[in-house]
Amino acid sequence: QFQMIRHEDLRLEESLGRGSFTRIFKGSKTDIREGERQNTDVLLKVLDGSYKNCWESFFEAASLMSQISHKHLLLVYGISVHRSENIMVQEFVKYGALDLFLRKKQGSVPVSWKLDVAKQLACVLNFLEEKKIVHGNISAKNLLLAREGDSSIGTSPFIKLSDPGISVAVTGRDVALDRIPWVAPEVLEAPETWGMECDKWSFGTTLWEIFNGGKAPLQGLDPQQKLMFYENHEQLPSPKWTELADLIGRCMEYDPALRPSSRGIIRQLNSLITSDYELLDPGLSAHA
Ligand code: ATP
Ligand code: MG
Repeated sequence: QFQMIRHEDLRLEESLGRGSFTRIFKGSKTDIREGERQNTDVLLKVLDGSYKNCWESFFEAASLMSQISHKHLLLVYGISVHRSENIMVQEFVKYGALDLFLRKKQGSVPVSWKLDVAKQLACVLNFLEEKKIVHGNISAKNLLLAREGDSSIGTSPFIKLSDPGISVAVTGRDVALDRIPWVAPEVLEAPETWGMECDKWSFGTTLWEIFNGGKAPLQGLDPQQKLMFYENHEQLPSPKWTELADLIGRCMEYDPALRPSSRGIIRQLNSLITSDYELLDPGLSAHA
């Protein structure tokens, strides 16, 4: 369900560090199109040796992304296998991960920008819901920024949802605990019972990150404390903007059945008016 890419057609250039189970490189891919060689910038994820036994799940992530197409979903070109290495080849997205971007901007991102991003993510969520597909790893880290957007000249940001990577269903409990508060609580209790509602929970967490400047929620808590957070049915600190806090709270309902549909999420996002936010704290409006 995905293309196999010949290793000879790939070039690994600079290292961009590590993912959860991967080493990440910028690189390029050569294609012959109409008799001519063409190079495309790509992002390469090389699966770590210690997670080699999870290759099926890694391939599944690539396959999922290759089967569906949406403007806000990252393009995955395929997989390359070289000796014992498994490499996912995907579109290179210029401005990188959203959490890092927001942190770098240190609060200088307008609320309207954040709302745009949230609506784009809700749009993919709706697409996945219609196709009855669970992504399973939605977070600000897995939203990539293809266009920065500049409200002063009337352009919007543009995001793409990245691949889910190895599923927590196969990585074991340590990784799942580490993914609190993004992973839905029911996934920890019974990983086999999770459904599309788990993406709604992660959407709520991601919304929280977007409106908190890319800050990691529950940072500094150890796995046991994170588990307690779920066991006590706690909630992340509410944003001051009550309408937004309400939406996050509804997505992060401990009972999956109470979470809104993606249509409901879109409706509620559309009813959030930036001016309400500005009324809360006029001094904040430019910086929040
Ligand atoms: P996980 O499966 O947990 O999502 P991963 O292997 O996808 O792990 P990430 O931690 O999501 O790795 O990504 C690591 C970093 O690589 C990101 O912070 C981002 O800066 C960069 N990155 C990932 N994908 C791309 C891409 N397609 N284009 C540009 N940069 C990317
Ligand atoms: Mg990722």
